[in-house]
Amino acid sequence: MDLIANVERELAQLETHSLTRRRRVAETRCAPLQVVDGRPMLAFCSNDYLGLAAHPRVVEALREGAQIYGAGSGASHLVSGHSRAHAVLEERLAQLQAPYVESAQALYFSTGYMANLAVLTTLGANADAAIFSEALNHASLIDGARLARAGVSVFPHGGTDTLAAQLEASNAVTKIVVTDSVFSMDGDLAPLPQLLALCERHGAWLVVDDAHGFGVLGENGRGALEHFALRSPNLVYVGTLGKAAGVSGAFVAAHHSVIELMVQRARPYIYTTAAPPALAHALLTSLDIIAGDEGKGLRAHLQSLLAQLDSELTLARWQRLPSQTAIQPIIIGANDEALRAAAALHANGLWVPAIRPPTVAQGTARLRVTLSAAHTHQEVAQLAAALNDLERT
Ligand SMILES: *Cc1c(COP(=O)(O)O)cnc(C)c1O
Repeated sequence: MDLIANVERELAQLETHSLTRRRRVAETRCAPLQVVDGRPMLAFCSNDYLGLAAHPRVVEALREGAQIYGAGSGASHLVSGHSRAHAVLEERLAQLQAPYVESAQALYFSTGYMANLAVLTTLGANADAAIFSEALNHASLIDGARLARAGVSVFPHGGTDTLAAQLEASNAVTKIVVTDSVFSMDGDLAPLPQLLALCERHGAWLVVDDAHGFGVLGENGRGALEHFALRSPNLVYVGTLGKAAGVSGAFVAAHHSVIELMVQRARPYIYTTAAPPALAHALLTSLDIIAGDEGKGLRAHLQSLLAQLDSELTLARWQRLPSQTAIQPIIIGANDEALRAAAALHANGLWVPAIRPPTVAQGTARLRVTLSAAHTHQEVAQLAAALNDLERT
């Protein structure tokens, strides 16, 4: 069987380069203490930054949503799957971003991956458009740019000067600059005020993927635009709802005409079954928590855990990145060494993922530590001690 032999050769090649990925089976809910493959573990890997994925009020709202709306939506949004829960959620999300995105309306998607495909294929539908994409953008933005008919240029990480030159040289009818707000494998922030100033000067859209900012950044947890106090008609905001919001899905907030064009044209919106309305119903409770005093307290606790990790880590050989977010990567370099470090932590009951190419650049394999407001100071102390010990052995 040549067909199977070819597939198996590819798999063997991944194994040779320490690039095989393996899934672990979590037997319990997403939380710092989990049972994984039958073993109790202390986890530092989820994007559940506020601990809402297993929050009793959110879980109860999901149950209530299922009682009201049933299990599934039954169809795509444009056929018959668009429920009251989706509509109410979209109104709430639009209100949250309205201070930053002029004439904002919001559109709910079942995943952030699809939201990003939808934005870039809608705005960049024509060959006379141009997409300017940050070098460290998330895979879903890269794939969205590939699917669009627009031309694509990549600008270096943080390279606003290169971007300025690219925008200056471009005679595209529609210019679209796209960036993560918080880089998912590095944890640093994009210079959004500078990027927005460039976009306004050149009449370009600025698409901001705030997957790791929504719920966490800003006084009220509204995300990166609140954090930087930006306001512009050029902004197209993508927030995800499966990370800090603890449930699932994503939304785009943009000028109502952009949203209307996506409803008419975006294939990743139109040709897929609407997410279960119960998820949208549960998200209303997540948004209440994020906006209220509890959310403020959770964000403050997360900040104090970050400060603690920063002061307790004493790494010399492994490199830390200047991240002030809950994403705290530790760069090890070689794939096999990163895997060995993750395995040693695992043997110690600590779950920290090793991230390797192509998710990150060659030679920059890393441990990606993520903290959550659900962690305790004692748990963070345990992690810091284990990392310090491991680096010395
Ligand atoms: C997780 C993530 C996405 C995809 O969102 P999903 O809802 O998980 O599909 C998009 N962009 C970034 C930067 C992400 O980290």
